[in-house]
Amino acid sequence: MQNVIEFFRTLPKKKCKQCGSDIVEKADCYGNLCDECDHPAR
Ligand SMILES: [Zn+2]
Repeated sequence: MQNVIEFFRTLPKKKCKQCGSDIVEKADCYGNLCDECDHPAR
């Protein structure tokens, strides 16, 4: 199952669709928003 690992390693960096900054890798349940734009208080 090496292909799965290689697939994730070669994924392009996510960018926030709102402000355009790089999204820190974490669970992808945040869609395409960075921490700032996805902040519930904003
Ligand atoms: Zn953002």
